[in-house]
Amino acid sequence: MSDSPQNPASVIGPLALVEYPHPALLRPAKPLVRIDDEVCNAVGQMFDIMYEAEGIGLAANQVALPYRLFIVNTAGRRGDGEELVFINPMLSRPRGTAVQEEGCLSLPGLRMDVRRPEKIVVDAWSLDGQPIRLDLDGLLSRVVQHEFDHLEGKLFTDRLPEAAAIEARRALETFREVFMGQQSRGELPAHEEIVARLDQLQADRCPA
Ligand code: ZN
Repeated sequence: MSDSPQNPASVIGPLALVEYPHPALLRPAKPLVRIDDEVCNAVGQMFDIMYEAEGIGLAANQVALPYRLFIVNTAGRRGDGEELVFINPMLSRPRGTAVQEEGCLSLPGLRMDVRRPEKIVVDAWSLDGQPIRLDLDGLLSRVVQHEFDHLEGKLFTDRLPEAAAIEARRALETFREVFMGQQSRGELPAHEEIVARLDQLQADRCPA
């Protein structure tokens, strides 16, 4: 006989980057209300994955976790810059506009100019439960807005003007064919299996 904890949350386990059109990227993530050891471990893995892929930001749904959480290090290298973790972020006070080329670890190889507010205020929680409020501009503002879009189930390709959007649509179609090919060969789980896993992870750590 053993004491089992009430409502034990499922193990998160090893994480990996997912690419468009993985279902985790296309649905809004849910606020985290339970930050357990599994979540802390997942954040550690996310930094490993981000540095390995030479990224400067990574949202939880890019590793198939349906939680409102993203990480940033604009230096892009372990030991350099500052490692930031944003949990349940909110954006406010958008000011100005800026156009800059963006790429995304979930759309490898695709880079396009994206127009966004130049400055933004972000409110969030850190991994140890401290409130964060930052008034951002420059690269950090851009990365935070890009990662926040992921939590809304959006990609930078959703923010393009008409001509660029047509070009992006062709690239997205190729990503879709690759993804479906991997599913048909059993290299990726079927759609229903992926969605069931996301629903379980959400049920474990997000409000109903
Ligand atoms: Zn991205």
